[in-house]
Amino acid sequence: MRQALGSQLRITPDVENVFVCLICFKFFSESDPDEISLEHVPPDSVGGKVRTITCKVCNSESGSKLDNHLALKLEHEDIFAERSSGPLQAHASIDGIRLPIDFYKEDNNFSIVIPNNDKWQQKCRSQIDAFTEKVVSGKFEINVEYKLHSSKRANAAILRSAYLWAFSVFGYGVLINPHFPVIRGQIHNPEENILSSQGYGFLSGGIPDELLGVNLIKSPREARSLLVVLDVTSELGTKTRYGVMLPGPSLPGPMIYDWLESHQEEPINYQLEHIPEFDFLDAPMAFQMLWNELTATN
Ligand SMILES: [Zn+2]
Repeated sequence: MRQALGSQLRITPDVENVFVCLICFKFFSESDPDEISLEHVPPDSVGGKVRTITCKVCNSESGSKLDNHLALKLEHEDIFAERSSGPLQAHASIDGIRLPIDFYKEDNNFSIVIPNNDKWQQKCRSQIDAFTEKVVSGKFEINVEYKLHSSKRANAAILRSAYLWAFSVFGYGVLINPHFPVIRGQIHNPEENILSSQGYGFLSGGIPDELLGVNLIKSPREARSLLVVLDVTSELGTKTRYGVMLPGPSLPGPMIYDWLESHQEEPINYQLEHIPEFDFLDAPMAFQMLWNELTATN
């Protein structure tokens, strides 16, 4: 067979020094350095470190469409759990007079402060005076608006980080996985419910430090997957740990998310294997070999 095909087959890779963006799958060569950027995993705004590269377009799109929702989510959690009194950047309006304000929450009380910015205060003097007059009169109805985050976009930022982290450890070999297009589909369409459950298979709480990074879940069988454990940090320094499941190349594949969704309430005894931070980039089949080893046992 091999002999018969031998003369027609070229199995030596014929591309060199090519970089493929893991998010959009566009190819870039060494002559396009301006189109490639260093990528923080998790995002820079929540305390991540540079772990890989993506194309500039995908990197900046993620910043504005996903990462800022994650940072905002963490900020809101700090304020509403009263770990922080604020301020939250907001707008307040009374009778149509609308001003940017700092919003504070403490001991179930809310307060608003007009930011002390001389230039701005001078420019909007009459508005500020009218606003203050209403407040002093004691008869007013105040409306406070602050920028909401989208939980789905914040979750997609976490999912994207887990996916890029796995790549940073295993290299392109990790992409030989028929279930990863679904993951990329969810990242590209954060508001759609492509993966079952809004949790995307996050495991939270009680994950020990030793598991930070990439792990394989060996059992239960229904949960066999990659588990990427990562920390995100709010501006205030509150750390939240996520364990994100990513499907392996064979079964149960994305069914892990359905399984997890129906087992959210019960304690699960996971058997895990931690993958050390080893440079697998020169061993493109390392991930497949580890996965096969894992799934060969019962
Ligand atoms: Zn890209």
